[in-house]
Amino acid sequence: MLKSRRMKLPPVHETLADLVRINSVNSAYEGGPGEREIATWVRQFFEQRGIEVWEQEVFPNRPNVIARLPGRDSSRRVILEAHMDTVSVRGMSIPPFEPRVENGRLHGRGSCDTKAGLAAMMHAVASVHVEGIQPPCEVWLAAVVDEEFSYRGVLKLCEGLGGQAALVAEPTGLRAAIASKGVLRWRIVVRGKAAHSGKPHLGVNAINHMARIVLALEEDHQRLAARAHPLLGPATVNVGVIHGGVQVNFVPDMCTIEIDRRLLPGENVASVLTHYRRMLETLRAQHPTFDATMDPPMLTDAALETAADSAPARLASALLAGMGLDGTLCGVPFGSDASKLSRQGISTLVFGPGSIDQAHVAVEYVDLAEVERAFEFYRSFILRFT
Ligand SMILES: [Zn+2]
Repeated sequence: MLKSRRMKLPPVHETLADLVRINSVNSAYEGGPGEREIATWVRQFFEQRGIEVWEQEVFPNRPNVIARLPGRDSSRRVILEAHMDTVSVRGMSIPPFEPRVENGRLHGRGSCDTKAGLAAMMHAVASVHVEGIQPPCEVWLAAVVDEEFSYRGVLKLCEGLGGQAALVAEPTGLRAAIASKGVLRWRIVVRGKAAHSGKPHLGVNAINHMARIVLALEEDHQRLAARAHPLLGPATVNVGVIHGGVQVNFVPDMCTIEIDRRLLPGENVASVLTHYRRMLETLRAQHPTFDATMDPPMLTDAALETAADSAPARLASALLAGMGLDGTLCGVPFGSDASKLSRQGISTLVFGPGSIDQAHVAVEYVDLAEVERAFEFYRSFILRFT
């Protein structure tokens, strides 16, 4: 078992190892220092190569870092975007910040999600600059904060941002993804009336009424299953949490559930919520003591859908096929910064090395050969996109 710092690695792998060595756990998570240190490292990487770079403050001491290469056409822009933060190291069974290379894989927190993609993007931009090539379009590399918690980094980046194409680094196993589901999470509260369990007719059992809602949601899930998106499958609804009751000999006066609804492209949060509000109204009409309310959403995140015949999607597909990789456009089962860039009217794809199965887990790693291929892909994309 050799520590990577003792070995001579190719430059992109060396950069990945350096990035993994920096703890950039999102500060929303236990013990997370945030992105200050890694942001400085990324900024200096570009400064040392004479590439224009600046910081964009998102939270105090948590900036996005943006590097820019001028293009032959200054009115057109390609954005390479990767997040710098990681999830926590809780539950990891390997040293999180000691990048270790074994069997062609580099291990450590963030190695797969998404420092591998970030390192590959950084070297793609740097190599074009170092060779003195001016790409057809202006190129921005945006290394952003806070993807793993509340997407504030990309939202700041998007303020007033325009562009013709964006590539977002996430582990897609070197496939180009044009679609992902959105998410909507909210809580339903049922209020009943407390009574002694020996005289339940004096109370209103909140759990019983909630059971009607849970069953109605299960039926709704089956209804959703009937309509599948070609790349993403059907929308889903899942009750993940239920709380109710205080003691076995009380009629419970309150019950709450938390619901996770995955949205397909084209579904709109307001109309989805209206659908569930109507469902509650129907139950109320059937049961006079039924009293349920919906809390405002705890989380909403839009779905992503980039046209398969858009110029960036067609180019990505052709480049991958030319590299001997799978050029079929796909969907991914996770959300990312991409949907936010897409909402800006920028045709956005998700593409990166590594598998999502190796992200956020006890043993996180990335295959170094994939990092090389991702570097080639990003580089070809910025050289070819016009
Ligand atoms: Zn990620």
